[in-house]
Amino acid sequence: MRVAIAGAGLAGLSCAKYLIDAGHTPIVLERRDVLGGLVAAWKDSDGDWYETGLHAFFGAYPNMLQLLKELGIQDRLQWKEHTLIFNQPEKPGTLSRFDVPDIPSPFNIIASILRNNDMLTWEQKIRFAIGLLPAIVRGQKYVEEMDKYSFAEWLKRQGIGERVASDVFIAASKALTFINPDEVSSTILLTALNRFLQERYGSKIAFLDGSPTERLCQPIVDYITAGGGQVRLNAPLKQIVLNPDGTVKEFLLRGLNGEPDEVVTADFYVSAMSVDALKVMLPEPWQQIDCFQKLEGLEGVPVINLHLWFDRKLTDIDQLLFSRSPLLSVYADMSNTCREYANPDRSMLELVLAPAKDWISKSDEEIIAATMTELEKLLPEHFGQENPAKLLKSHVVKTPRSVYKATPGRQQYRPPQKTPIANFFLSGSYTMQRYLGSMEGAVLSGKLTAQAICESLPEASASNLQTLTRTPATNAATA
Ligand SMILES: Cc1cc2nc3c(=O)[nH]c(=O)nc-3n(C[C@H](O)[C@H](O)[C@H](O)COP(=O)(O)OP(=O)(O)OC[C@H]3O[C@@H](n4cnc5c(N)ncnc54)[C@H](O)[C@@H]3O)c2cc1C
Repeated sequence: MRVAIAGAGLAGLSCAKYLIDAGHTPIVLERRDVLGGLVAAWKDSDGDWYETGLHAFFGAYPNMLQLLKELGIQDRLQWKEHTLIFNQPEKPGTLSRFDVPDIPSPFNIIASILRNNDMLTWEQKIRFAIGLLPAIVRGQKYVEEMDKYSFAEWLKRQGIGERVASDVFIAASKALTFINPDEVSSTILLTALNRFLQERYGSKIAFLDGSPTERLCQPIVDYITAGGGQVRLNAPLKQIVLNPDGTVKEFLLRGLNGEPDEVVTADFYVSAMSVDALKVMLPEPWQQIDCFQKLEGLEGVPVINLHLWFDRKLTDIDQLLFSRSPLLSVYADMSNTCREYANPDRSMLELVLAPAKDWISKSDEEIIAATMTELEKLLPEHFGQENPAKLLKSHVVKTPRSVYKATPGRQQYRPPQKTPIANFFLSGSYTMQRYLGSMEGAVLSGKLTAQAICESLPEASASNLQTLTRTPATNAATA
């Protein structure tokens, strides 16, 4: 079967990869001239990479790890020490670590929490452990039910106290969703906590050894093309053209540089575009259908990714850092964490600025100036004194609409991969899957879409389906 997929982010590429495995012929159509969507990266005129986002991989990403294994590129993940490191804003320049010992879960996480006395008092630890019991006992069902509360509300209901939110979970909330604990659905943080508590290496972090475009997306493209599929850049979907019965007749691509528009036909059609891009393209007759109407409840959240190159080494820490700053979310010295960006003499800090709604329309200069002021608190020994580190160059990448904004009540709006339209499917980390708006969620959604397409075939070719289901694709409903 020929399957046309709009969008070459991780969801679209993963969908195409698993369709190849099931014996089909995908053609991926990407609007931009770069692969990867939210993991896209570019090389500047000095040959330095800059990225849409600082991306951390977790041990609790089974579908991503499986995909890398299937592509034979699992060695491209550089695993870091099993620890979570937080800045301590009240003591500028100092760090607090949750070192996770190599013992079975959940004892490893419990031990890391018990051993950390900088960020949680004993009373907070005990209250938090009791508060988490329903999530541990009732699992994902309870976690989904808690979508009606923000994480700050959930903490209050469990009697844990709001300080924990500002002390610890502001960092986790901003890192996972780019919004604060008083805005984020408690389902998000409880899902992450549950995975970390259940999997021995779930919270272990890895960095890719180079740019996601070259080191992660390109091998997927190579696999797709070797299997007879296609991936086309500069191929923007302009219109989803319908048959009289409301099914998809064809994808109409916008002609670029004076070229005429182009028609692409297939047996099945997939939108692997972001939810915001899909919403503006929904054909009129579909707009009253419940599954598509609900998309109005989802919207991408703004985020900014900064890259700052300095004239000296600022730190030798080879790990993701949770800033706990009001301006920033996570950051890393990529000259330590990423093989291709390595530099023994000079640091390149990659930093995520979130929440970014008040910053997204500001100039790069304003954003960099505010970040430099923040660095005085994070790395006081190198800034704000006699001989401060010199900023050599910078890149600011703004994404006005990134992953869906995971505020309370959003779970009910996330659509399944299979739609009421017989030959039209959805993929994307915003669609319903248990890993939220993440790389793992995107890869899993692509796999679930490929499965849904195979299942919709009249004979549901059993052998092809087995190929897909051998891999660990699980959805929220079945988890
Ligand atoms: C700053 C930042 C940091 C992040 N950090 C992490 C992290 O540490 N760990 C993690 O797991 N996740 C992280 N994420 C989230 C992760 O990147 C995303 O969840 C994931 O990449 C989304 O993939 P996707 O394929 O669902 O969507 P997208 O990447 O948005 O892909 C959609 C694709 O559709 C294309 N498209 C849109 N319109 C059209 C059209 N008309 N025609 C054809 N194509 C079209 C787009 O160009 C894009 O390529 C981060 C994201 C950002 C922005």
